[in-house]
Amino acid sequence: MIAVQDLSFRYSDASFRLHVPQFELQDRERVAIVGPSGSGKTTLLNLIAGILTPQAGRIDVAGTDVAQLSDVDRRRFRASTIGFVFQDFALLDYLSARQNILYPYRITPALTLDAKARARAEALAVSCGIGDKLDRHPTALSQGEQQRVAICRALVTQPKLILSDEATGNLDPDSKSRILDLLFEQAAEAGAAVLAVTHDHELLPRFERVLDFAQFREGAEA
Ligand code: ADP
Ligand code: MG
Repeated sequence: MIAVQDLSFRYSDASFRLHVPQFELQDRERVAIVGPSGSGKTTLLNLIAGILTPQAGRIDVAGTDVAQLSDVDRRRFRASTIGFVFQDFALLDYLSARQNILYPYRITPALTLDAKARARAEALAVSCGIGDKLDRHPTALSQGEQQRVAICRALVTQPKLILSDEATGNLDPDSKSRILDLLFEQAAEAGAAVLAVTHDHELLPRFERVLDFAQFREGAEA
């Protein structure tokens, strides 16, 4: 699902450098990423999603070299292939929770917002415990509820790759476990792979593999 080769990235205005010699994620595989704050975990997810472009190296996602796509094609590719739960949720305040969940359909001509999609959004919201909050706007939701909306939005299109950036960070332990169940259940149903940044060490045994990010820090010991 993902093949990263000799990837180098730096932000234009910062000294931080990320170098990933090699990383692969198999179809349907569930991998957790751990590592200190500032080690580049979010940066790597953004590179994989094509939100950032590397200075060197290859990132293949589902057989496509994302860095080679035009902006328009990259956005289209992302919307059809990847579900991304952002660390800061990235919800739109002027839209209701329901509209936020269905947002990928608004911005992606290739996706059709039909009754099936609406029913899926509803069912996901119910499974996440926000079924009765769908008409509220993000400003009227708690952090944990906003996080669930973000998770539903990432899952609603049944993407083949789910990228999750501390998606369980703002939840209590019971909710964390339930949200991860839901994420894995949805991933299994859609045949999707999951790459999840997490600080919740008690959740790590539920992943097939754990990638420790400290090793990718440019200049870090191998
Ligand atoms: P993590 O998710 O592991 O906490 P990040 O990928 O967010 O780490 O950040 C890695 C490094 O890149 C940090 O030093 C951070 O300050 C820097 N950084 C993140 N985003 C930007 C940006 N947009 N511009 C410049 N530097 C950034
Ligand atoms: Mg981060």
